[in-house]
Amino acid sequence: MQFSFEFFPPRSSAGQSSLHSAIQQLQIWQPSFASMTYGAGGTSQQESFAGTQQLVAQELNTAAHITCVGADRASVQATAKQFVAQGVEHLVALRGDSPVGAYVPHKQGYAFANDLVAGLREWFAGTISVAAYPEVHPQAASGAKDLDFLKAKVDAGADQIISQYCYDTDTLLAFAERLQQADIKQPFLVGIMPIHDIVAVQRFSARCGASVPKAIVERFAGLEQPADIAKLSIDIAAEQCRLLLENGLDQFHFYTLNRSALTAGVLASIQGPAVNLAMTA
Ligand code: FAD
Repeated sequence: MQFSFEFFPPRSSAGQSSLHSAIQQLQIWQPSFASMTYGAGGTSQQESFAGTQQLVAQELNTAAHITCVGADRASVQATAKQFVAQGVEHLVALRGDSPVGAYVPHKQGYAFANDLVAGLREWFAGTISVAAYPEVHPQAASGAKDLDFLKAKVDAGADQIISQYCYDTDTLLAFAERLQQADIKQPFLVGIMPIHDIVAVQRFSARCGASVPKAIVERFAGLEQPADIAKLSIDIAAEQCRLLLENGLDQFHFYTLNRSALTAGVLASIQGPAVNLAMTA
């Protein structure tokens, strides 16, 4: 089993200390890499550079996300080169979303992630990951087209695929099957987002085209104590990871939301305490 952690750049000093402590708590799990998002939630480029620097400084194998939004090709390339200058050898290449309204490609920019991957591959020899959507990207013309464009990203030079989180394991397994059928052989890292707050997760999921199954919502009904909510969240994510492992999917990318307890709880549940792992490494 392999796993990685995703963080986002903080925008306040309280956020900075949450990130710092999440990194400290989670790095003992020895992830295969840790990534820092870019531009998501309106964060700035400088915040992404600073957040990425924090991961590099902790000697984590660091991946920097990069998007095509609102920038011409030269600026996107300059940003990628700045990440590489920081010590990054892994880029997560994304289209991104417009901060307001529908996505419109920059006139001199990369229109879609496959164009970005091709542009990066002109000079970047490190790892490139791209995004995939088991429940289909919300703006995709169809599931089949979405898969064709995923294949285009791989054909342009992507090394691995990271999925949007998806709480329906059958949908994930069916998607993994479709990757095989489309002859997409790159490693498939399943996005896992433990549910810290069921209402917030439902709201966010509605915006990004992910669903939260009714059966999961019902399990949270009536729970009020943070410890009970955390335990259920860990149980749900660990159950999903176990089911995925049984079905041959053994690479997980945790959306940590800059919190450590739930991700650490899931890992402890599926493979035992971190301290044992470190001692046997
Ligand atoms: P694309 O692969 O370009 O696809 C976008 C849409 O266009 C899809 O509907 C697809 O079917 C269609 N399409 C793709 N290629 C073409 C083409 N050549 N011609 C016509 N249509 C095409 N957002 C951020 O802002 N910052 C982040 O750091 C970030 N990190 C993420 C990490 C992961 C693992 C995931 C799953 C998402 C992340 N996102 C991030 C969100 C992402 O930017 C959005 O989901 C965005 O809407 C799509 O990005 P993409 O790279 O998947 O786009």
